[in-house]
Amino acid sequence: MNQYYQTIISEKTLYIVPTPIGNYEDITKRALNTLEAVSLIAAEDTRNTKNLLKYFDINTNLCALHDHNEHKKTNKLIIKLQDGHSIALVSDAGTPLINDPGYYLVQRCYAVGIRVIPLPGACAAITALCASGISSNRFCYEGFLPVKTQLRKKKLLSLLEESRTIIFYESTHRLIESLKDIIEIMGHDRYIVLARELTKRWENIYGASAEKLLNWILEDDMRRRGEMVLIIQGNHKSSKNIIGVKALYTLALLQKELSLKTAITLVAKIYGIKKNILYQHTLDKIKDDK
Ligand code: SAM
Repeated sequence: MNQYYQTIISEKTLYIVPTPIGNYEDITKRALNTLEAVSLIAAEDTRNTKNLLKYFDINTNLCALHDHNEHKKTNKLIIKLQDGHSIALVSDAGTPLINDPGYYLVQRCYAVGIRVIPLPGACAAITALCASGISSNRFCYEGFLPVKTQLRKKKLLSLLEESRTIIFYESTHRLIESLKDIIEIMGHDRYIVLARELTKRWENIYGASAEKLLNWILEDDMRRRGEMVLIIQGNHKSSKNIIGVKALYTLALLQKELSLKTAITLVAKIYGIKKNILYQHTLDKIKDDK
């Protein structure tokens, strides 16, 4: 048999093992063989992983490695690895380290010369991206948006001119607020896909302009339930790029507080843009809005 079809477990090795994001059938054969063969599984939540192991009839010992004990626990795991143990790292769902614990452990492994072997597997961000219908050649993964409104807006502002597809994880409680902020900063017409409950019974993938998506969600409470990923189309508006979307956003904000003349003078100074270009843009926008 070709050795590449076998799961060979080495001593003194950390295995990074993805687990399903919903459907248990999505775990790979190699992941199951690894979980069965290692001497210890470090899990984000042992109760959660116990259920998975029980389903597949695996009895390997478990220990907890979560955000609150990561540093302390890592030191203990490193000693075990140095003693010759093989350890599998799993999170509650999907790929460990992707918005899940494990970064410090992997870093420490390299620092002390422990081998790290990653297994490929489920990841909500990639699963959602592939089904979004939005360009997947170039994308950036941004994890969760900040909880505080001001920080969230600042983050969105920093991504305003991003031309790659943007991936966010989102929670049911903050979806509406986040979408309102996306509309305010990136515009009502930015195309977004909401991918919910992937691989599960109520899987749903819906794409529309930001404003239409928000209205669609507001029509039915169920549409913001469950686990979700937002895929946002990159900024490809070349006409706006001439001035710069950040400059336009600043102009819109200043216009609310100051006279048009002062707002344009300030934006022209801050961003080094000619005043007449900003005047022309404002006139065009007034025409468009009519
Ligand atoms: N490590 C995981 C991965 O590889 O995708 C992500 C962990 S992060 C703490 C959990 C978030 O991932 C959820 O809040 C949700 O945004 C997203 N997520 C996880 N499972 C999902 C699913 N089945 N459908 C949609 N999004 C999911």
